[in-house]
Amino acid sequence: MSHNLDVPSTRRRSRRRRRRFVVAVAIALVVLFVVAYGVKRVIQTRSWQVAGELISRVETDERVVALTFDDGPTDSDADAVLDVLADRDVPATFYVNGKEVEGSGSTMRRIIEGGHEIGNHTWNHRPMAFVSPSTVAEEIEPTDEVIRATGYDGPLTFRPPHGKKLLTLPLYLAKHDRLTVTWDVAYEDWSGNPQSSDELVNATVDNTQPGSIILLHPWFGRTTTQKAIGPVIDRLKEQGYSFVTVSELIG
Ligand SMILES: [Zn+2]
Repeated sequence: MSHNLDVPSTRRRSRRRRRRFVVAVAIALVVLFVVAYGVKRVIQTRSWQVAGELISRVETDERVVALTFDDGPTDSDADAVLDVLADRDVPATFYVNGKEVEGSGSTMRRIIEGGHEIGNHTWNHRPMAFVSPSTVAEEIEPTDEVIRATGYDGPLTFRPPHGKKLLTLPLYLAKHDRLTVTWDVAYEDWSGNPQSSDELVNATVDNTQPGSIILLHPWFGRTTTQKAIGPVIDRLKEQGYSFVTVSELIG
C-alpha cells in the first residue's frame, strides 16, 4: 500500500482516467454488439416486423398449405413450372419481380389463366433493409403497376427479397395497408453444397405442417427445384394435404 503514496497524484489520475476509458470502450463495444445483433435479428426474422401485418404460416388443424414461387418469371422455365401445376390441378402463388414481368408476358398470361395468385416481390430484387422511403416506393409501386397491366386483378400481397426488412419497408407497407407474406418451409440449399431433388423433396415434405407456406425458386433454369415440384405436391397429397393460394390460406 505504501508505494501507492509515492505515485504522484497526476499519474494516479491519468491511470484512473485510462481505466475509465477502457471500461467505457468495453461497454460501448458490448452495446454496439447487442444493437448490431438485434438489428440483424429484426432484418432476418421471418415471423415479425416493426410495423404492418406479416404472416409466415397460418394456425390451423386443416391439412391445407400454400405453395409459393419467388423471383422471375422466366419464359424459358414456364413449362417446367406451370405444366406440373396444371397436371395436378394445384394453384400456387407467384412472387414476381417487376423487371422480369416486363419480358415474360406469355408466362404471366399462363399464370393468370391457370388460376394462380400473383404477389409483389419488388422491381429489382434489391436488399430492402437499409433503403430510403422513396426507394421503397420505387420498388413496390411500378411492380404493382406492371402486374396489373398483365390483366391480373386478384389479391396482391408483398414478399421482401430474402425476407429481409428493417424500418422503412415495414413502415411503408403498414401505411399502405399491405400484407407481408414470408414462409415457414424453405429447404433449397444456397450454401453451394450439391443438393438432389430427392433431398429437397424430403426436407420440404418432412417439415410441412397444416397451414404451412412453402417457398421454392424454380426460375432461371433451377432444375433441381423444378424437378422437386411434382413430387412435393404428390407426397403432400398422399398425406391428405390440399393446396390453396396464399390469400385463400389466410382467408
Ligand atoms: Zn426472391
